Amino acid sequence: MSNFFETPIEFLKGIGPTKADVLKKELGIFTFQDLLFHYPFRYIDRTKYYQIKEVTSDLPFIQFVGKLTNKQVVGERQGKRLIAQFEDATGMIECVWFQSLKWADKSLIIGTSYVVFGKPTYFGAKANIVHPEIETVANHDQTVATALQPVYNTTEKLKSFYLDSKGFLKIQKQLLSVALKEIKENLPESILSKYQMLSRAEAIAEIHFPTDAKKLQRATARLKFEELFLIQIKLLKINSNRKLKSRGFILNKVGDLFNQFYKEKIPFELTGAQKRVVKEIRADTVSGMQMNRLLQGDVGSGKTMVALLTMLLAIDNGFQTCLMAPTEILAQQHFQSLKDLLSDLPVNIKVLTGSAKSKARKETLAELISGECNIVVGTHALIEETVQFKNLGMVVIDEQHRFGVEQRAKLWRKNTQAPHVLVMTATPIPRTLAMTLYGDLDVSVIDELPAGRVPIETVHQNESQRLRLNAFIAKEIEKGRQVYVVYPLIKESEKLDLLNLTEGYESMIRAFPLPKYKVSVVHGQMKPADKDFEMQRFVKGETQIMVATTVIEVGVNVPNASIMVIENAERFGLSQLHQLRGRVGRGSEKSYCILMSGNKLSNDGKTRLQTMVNTSNGFEISEIDLQLRGPGDLQGTQQSGVLDLHIADLAKDQRILQEARVAAQEILATDVNLTSADNSRLRAYLSLQKSNQINWEQIS
Ligand code: ADP
Ligand code: MG
Repeated sequence: MSNFFETPIEFLKGIGPTKADVLKKELGIFTFQDLLFHYPFRYIDRTKYYQIKEVTSDLPFIQFVGKLTNKQVVGERQGKRLIAQFEDATGMIECVWFQSLKWADKSLIIGTSYVVFGKPTYFGAKANIVHPEIETVANHDQTVATALQPVYNTTEKLKSFYLDSKGFLKIQKQLLSVALKEIKENLPESILSKYQMLSRAEAIAEIHFPTDAKKLQRATARLKFEELFLIQIKLLKINSNRKLKSRGFILNKVGDLFNQFYKEKIPFELTGAQKRVVKEIRADTVSGMQMNRLLQGDVGSGKTMVALLTMLLAIDNGFQTCLMAPTEILAQQHFQSLKDLLSDLPVNIKVLTGSAKSKARKETLAELISGECNIVVGTHALIEETVQFKNLGMVVIDEQHRFGVEQRAKLWRKNTQAPHVLVMTATPIPRTLAMTLYGDLDVSVIDELPAGRVPIETVHQNESQRLRLNAFIAKEIEKGRQVYVVYPLIKESEKLDLLNLTEGYESMIRAFPLPKYKVSVVHGQMKPADKDFEMQRFVKGETQIMVATTVIEVGVNVPNASIMVIENAERFGLSQLHQLRGRVGRGSEKSYCILMSGNKLSNDGKTRLQTMVNTSNGFEISEIDLQLRGPGDLQGTQQSGVLDLHIADLAKDQRILQEARVAAQEILATDVNLTSADNSRLRAYLSLQKSNQINWEQIS
């Protein structure tokens, strides 16, 4: 046997092939290790017995002793269930079984006293317990009663194979009795002693069977730290490897172009955050190593200016630069605004997209090869083989999450030595997530909006306020403003009671008729050319109202638009709402974001809309998003290893993560190759990881 922990689960005493099969299918538990990492999700006090009259549905798991006084199977098909009544001196409570009815019916004997254990819930007017664990008082094993008994996640199917929480407890005990001596430490002694941590074996034993609350707390902290620390070691190691390997162009000259632009052309004072980020980029580009930097900044925080300054720096040092955007519209917008900013400066800037006419295209390609063209702005078209540079030194990628890893990597290869790379995103990522997702990138943050912005007023309304809303829209249009109306769905769905786009479009046209008002419509199922045509009409101000699905989410800049109406706003995620709101408030006029929703809202829905009303800070919003959804649904987490966490929780364990990162940095600072004896455990861990790892070094 090569590795004890890889032993298939059927070889554990008490499991056997049938149970093993269900464990695999129900919970993905295949090996000893999988079972060992199936940690309890809570602990309950099995020394305490409740009186039946004390039982209310807001209690966690509880137990009581009661005599079975009545039982009865009621209902048909899906609704068929067994109801059993238990009594003690203080009252009566019902327990209900929907599954394993026959078995429950057979084993429950009227007149017998039972120990009943479960989670009370509300059913009708009173509390009851669905699918409790139950045993006769005679069989009740007092020896397992502890104040901190583990509760394991299980399923109805597993329960019918005697693997309820208590069944798990038994097999965990069995497993630990053989596995404990095999559990090896994986953290260096220096860390263990510095943080006074339990050993790995002790922590795992304690997490399943805590001695007391204090020990449990230490075990939990140690295991969380371990998970987060190992991810950090891995990411930071990749980062330092890349820096050692990939040399970078040195941009040590701050030349005429940069200076002239900075002194004469910037129409405003840079914010403190913008200045800081430019400094960070400057430090990267004189370091001799390739820059790989992620720039996070809320919508409207002025990332484009930072990108432009960065590009001018590269041009001053004799390099070409490119700026890649995810859509044609965005590329054109960037091109136009850069051209305006650079007017009169000797910079040759071109745009290259899929729709470029062949003559213009040929010219641009030629100028890129000859080196005449300094900046090329474009879409995916930039990636194509035919696009060749004389000396590409700096690549800027806007809205990076829209591009696949492969697409980005192709840009690196457009020069013999990889150009510097700056990726920008307006979707803020919570700090903890950024540290784990992009731990191998250097991260800069613009956390300050330019002064003098008029804040966007956000309100939450419902259908009864529709007429007033329409009147308000009409008034804004009267003043010359434009309006977005966004819907979540494209096609009518009878099941979901949603206003859909087409219907919405029609009602907008009825409320805002021709010839006075003109309405554009854009959705994901339109041909790109049609979409573009409609967009352009709105951009040029030929239409006043844009009815759309979320295709307008990213980057579109129409400073004249002052109202964003989001229909069925409760159906959108927080970050999406935030992105949509960022489409207004781009001009000097006061802007409004109106969140329309039905009256019935889930708790999450309420929190989301309330958050939008309360704050416009993208980082704050992303933190709340993480709390609400957990990391699993957030963009980018799938490939990150974050989802392999068994016990650490990125939403809750920020402090531990911070500690783990610092600890990892300290270790790598003195022993980057992990060659010391004390770090040999880490070296072993990393080499084990390598075998089944995608090539992280290519990802950025
Ligand atoms: P984003 O970060 O969303 O890409 P942009 O770069 O498009 O933001 O900037 C939004 C607007 O703010 C632009 O019109 C830009 O000219 C302006 N802007 C950028 N930096 C500043 C600043 N320091 N002071 C005032 N306005 C600024
Ligand atoms: Mg932008």
